[in-house]
Amino acid sequence: MRSDFLPFTRPCIEESDIDAVVGVLRSGWITNGPKNVEFEEELCRITGNKYAVALSSATAGMHILMKALKIGPGDEVVTPSLTWVSTVNMIVLAGATPVFAEIDRNTLMVTPESVKACLTPRTRLIIPVHYAGASFDVDGICEVAGDIPVIHDAAHAVGTYYKGRHVCSNGSGLFSFHAIKNVTAGEGGALVTDDEELAKAFRRWKFHGLGVDAFDRNNRGRAPQAEVQEPGFKYNLTDMQAALAIGQFRRLEEINGKREKLALRYLELLKGVEGVEPLKMPSGYDFKHAWHLFIVRVTTDKMTRIEFMDKLKAKNIGTGLHFVAAHIQKYYREKMGFQRGMLPETEYNSDRICSLPLFPGMTFADQDDVVQAIKEVLAE
Ligand SMILES: *Cc1c(COP(=O)(O)O)cnc(C)c1O
Repeated sequence: MRSDFLPFTRPCIEESDIDAVVGVLRSGWITNGPKNVEFEEELCRITGNKYAVALSSATAGMHILMKALKIGPGDEVVTPSLTWVSTVNMIVLAGATPVFAEIDRNTLMVTPESVKACLTPRTRLIIPVHYAGASFDVDGICEVAGDIPVIHDAAHAVGTYYKGRHVCSNGSGLFSFHAIKNVTAGEGGALVTDDEELAKAFRRWKFHGLGVDAFDRNNRGRAPQAEVQEPGFKYNLTDMQAALAIGQFRRLEEINGKREKLALRYLELLKGVEGVEPLKMPSGYDFKHAWHLFIVRVTTDKMTRIEFMDKLKAKNIGTGLHFVAAHIQKYYREKMGFQRGMLPETEYNSDRICSLPLFPGMTFADQDDVVQAIKEVLAE
């Protein structure tokens, strides 16, 4: 057994990133400023979008999205139930109704057919998830969406490509730079879009409704004459956070390359291991995986998924659970009338998924420890 605990993830921070953060601390300008500008430029370079707006989190972005699109009571928003709950929470807090699209059993992704089945005259927005860092069928979903806006939940997808272009290019999406994501700012998020009006709305909503950032690019400071155009939130990113992410953006290929090597090796090592089943690759379109998560389904009948995770932990192997379906969580069951049985494929996976350790600093020896521990646990 391993002598030290292997966490399920660890951020990919180098000395140069630490120096960049310290540089901000020494500069005298520590909230959003020049590093936010650089952060947004880097993100546009990566995705190919015209605009990027740095935010304090992807959840903040979801909140703004509901306001910017004027989504409220009577409106329906289509998203999977198997997602991070913040999306569903923001829909409900806006007074709108979440409509859960079923996922493909083996990719955890919503499909054009499952999204189409959810559309009604009240549908105002669709938020599909690029699950685990693979790509959903962007063209297929945009086609069934017609005029209804599609906002990519790209929290797992920095470095995910669909048909040769980065996801969200030609469209709009939200990224997360939370501590466990492929690129992290500690906490952070961003909108990318080609829609100038949406980008402007996000800039206004993220900073008190002033219509300017704390840092105005032309003034190199805050435009002193700015006044409230419409009340807004305070969802800006600090320059310490932006500086932390910028180095990772520049090393993105290397970071995701290391993830890919490990993920493909997992697939080899787990071949023929009865009791755990990795996700399958989406088929029918060309994409590049960002390998944010390596997920298996615990299919053994000897133990539950939670028991499996506990037994691995006792062997010093950390795991994660991404995610428990929203519709079977307390509030959504008790207050909104959702129940088990409504979404069989979602529930099948929600009961069985487990994220194995995967991060760029992980070694093949670490990975061998994980696979060895899995085999031992399943044999017990
Ligand atoms: C992490 C995550 C979010 C929320 O990101 P935050 O930056 O933590 O608010 C939203 N959706 C998905 C699928 C996520 O994994």
